[in-house]
Amino acid sequence: MIHVENLTRYYDDFCAVDGIHLDIQKGEILGLLGPNGAGKTTTLRMLTGYLQPSAGQIRVKDFTIGADTIAIKKCIGYLPESAPLYHDMMVYDYLNYVADIRELKADRKLTRINELAQLCGLNTVMHKTIGELSKGFKQRVGLAHTLMNDPEILILDEPTSGLDPNQIVEIREIIRKIGREKTIILSTHILSEAEATCDRIAIIHQGKIVADGSTQAIKQSAGRERTIYITLESANIETVRAHLKPVAGISRIDKLDSSDPDHLAIKIFVQSDVDIRKDIYRIIRQADWILLEFRQETQTLEHIFRELTLEN
Ligand code: ATP
Repeated sequence: MIHVENLTRYYDDFCAVDGIHLDIQKGEILGLLGPNGAGKTTTLRMLTGYLQPSAGQIRVKDFTIGADTIAIKKCIGYLPESAPLYHDMMVYDYLNYVADIRELKADRKLTRINELAQLCGLNTVMHKTIGELSKGFKQRVGLAHTLMNDPEILILDEPTSGLDPNQIVEIREIIRKIGREKTIILSTHILSEAEATCDRIAIIHQGKIVADGSTQAIKQSAGRERTIYITLESANIETVRAHLKPVAGISRIDKLDSSDPDHLAIKIFVQSDVDIRKDIYRIIRQADWILLEFRQETQTLEHIFRELTLEN
């Protein structure tokens, strides 16, 4: 549906987007995730045809940005981070006005406005002025605006930015509902947001894509490292290290502080895709150590995100 190749954008001599490659399939909800200044907005503005790339190619369906920018703009609905709305207008009048701009036929207009009121949960505020709405409702109006001409692709820049937790959940649900029929790209710097709403995440850092895949795939590729915490009674660290030495995949064993001198608390660093817990447990049984604690931790997506986007 969308094919991005070597997309690059300079502001003077500063490279804000640095050779991005992306393929987005029809029906996918892609989260472009990155810290402030990573290049998300710049990327989205290029995808929507509002900002010219310095280099690279963008194809949307059979159209190419540059040659067919107008055709591309027609199949994309773009909700910028702070959607411009007319605060003095009533929601109904505003949507009516948007329908006119989008050249909806008179007999289709009312039906479409009602559909959007239903989809975006605007029925109770249709006759309120936009200025008196909460931020969450304003964002719903922005979404309804974006959806007016039923675009196949939606591009949403930080759609939940500045909303309270309840409003975030509501907007998220609307996005998921819309996503059943449309291809969506949204940007966010909130990891849980991307995880909850998107099928796939591309992490962007300093203008480059540093990870791309399902949350599960990113965890697997970036997060091979696991740690196992064990507490034993009546064992010493040298013996434990010697016994565990034959187990493949262990990269290090650290002794942790323990409040009880009879307890040995250790942290085992594992660099392997293989689950080695059974091997370790067998060794503990054979050595006849008393096992007080046995716990494995895998890297969280939060941890991976921080590692991939730490300032150099
Ligand atoms: P945020 O989450 O803060 O919105 P972002 O990931 O969307 O950030 P961009 O807005 O794309 O990032 O900005 C990427 C980089 O390009 C930043 O360093 C920003 O300061 C710079 N930048 C953005 N717009 C311009 C501009 N018009 N002129 C010069 N530099 C710009």
